[in-house]
Amino acid sequence: MFLKSLHLRQFRNYRDQVVNFVAPKTILVGDNAQGKSNLLEAVELLATLQSHRTSRDRDLVQDGSAESRITATLEHAMGTVDLAMTLRSSGRRSVAVNGQTLRRQLDFLGTLSAVEFSSLDLELVRGGPGYRRAWIDTLLVQLEPVYAHILQQYGLVLRQRNALLKQRHSKSVPAIGAPHRQTNAPDPMQLAAWDAQLAALGTRVIRRRARAINRIASLAEFWHREISNSSETLVVQYLPNVPLEQDDPAQIQQAFLSKIQQRAIAEQMQGTTLVGPHRDEIGFTINQTPARQYGSQGQQRTLVLALKLAELKLIEAVIGEPPLLLLDDVLAELDPKRQRKLLETIQDRFQTLITTTHLDSFDAQWLRSSHVLQVQEGRVEG
Ligand code: ATP
Ligand code: MG
Repeated sequence: MFLKSLHLRQFRNYRDQVVNFVAPKTILVGDNAQGKSNLLEAVELLATLQSHRTSRDRDLVQDGSAESRITATLEHAMGTVDLAMTLRSSGRRSVAVNGQTLRRQLDFLGTLSAVEFSSLDLELVRGGPGYRRAWIDTLLVQLEPVYAHILQQYGLVLRQRNALLKQRHSKSVPAIGAPHRQTNAPDPMQLAAWDAQLAALGTRVIRRRARAINRIASLAEFWHREISNSSETLVVQYLPNVPLEQDDPAQIQQAFLSKIQQRAIAEQMQGTTLVGPHRDEIGFTINQTPARQYGSQGQQRTLVLALKLAELKLIEAVIGEPPLLLLDDVLAELDPKRQRKLLETIQDRFQTLITTTHLDSFDAQWLRSSHVLQVQEGRVEG
């Protein structure tokens, strides 16, 4: 697929800017705080309906404006598509495809696909499990848009169940001098109803994560061997909170409910849900050592690069078209060898948008095959 143009209005620091993309690779160069990442963020929103920098639309709408509009023209195998998204500083967003406003935002997903790689992605290796869950979830949303709905429902049930546990939990702490009358066990009927929903939705999340991690693992392991010249062996593993023996929904749901039983006392004590995919982990080990403890920043970068290349290939295999690659400030930090490996892999098939503050650390091959745009104070010029 190829993003032909992007039009940003009242989006972040862009008042009204059209950007036309004319080459497979576009380098956006500019000083700090000029709007380079903002531009990639707009593309990310079109691909995933999410920004990894904020969950509040009012942060995205230009200060002093009520709404912001992102429109784009995308060429893909089925022809040309116009995408539009309106964000409001208060109120719901709306999305449209070819001028038709969609009733369900989910239907917007799956048209534009993108893999983003920014310096924040090093947190995939160094950070807590939440980063790794967010990573696989963002990928899944693009592979199977219905996953966005499942995840949202799971989150809702989780919050309700937590509220019930918390309410009882806090009531169980007696006021000073008051007799302790309340028991801290939540209403068993009510809790059982939430348990059932949590296990049913959680099972759908777990199965999809297991499938996606399985597929991405072998790709990432391959790319890691390629980049490290076979000197290191990466293993990517799904470590679900609910034990997963086979891909059988009834069995997973059963395991889910029995773990809830086992953890019932702990949940009441802590006033929060301790069982479920919101506690999943994804393990990365290199030569049998957890990657987090392993090696240098360079090695961690190699791992993240392998994960990103795997994402590109997996999306391409599932969607049937190469997704966009968004490289936010990372390319210049890769050594020439890794830059070349990346270049070899993406060739001209994956449209790539690259941000940087300076062009001097770019491999000459990159510069030759790229169109350079200057970004300054929310304006883009060729
Ligand atoms: P760096 O090289 O430091 O990463 P950048 O060019 O990627 O810089 P961006 O993150 O794209 O910078 O843009 C940051 C600028 O956008 C800041 O000046 C910030 O004040 C401005 N900005 C962010 N949100 C809004 C908003 N809602 N309204 C107006 N301006 C905003
Ligand atoms: Mg930036």
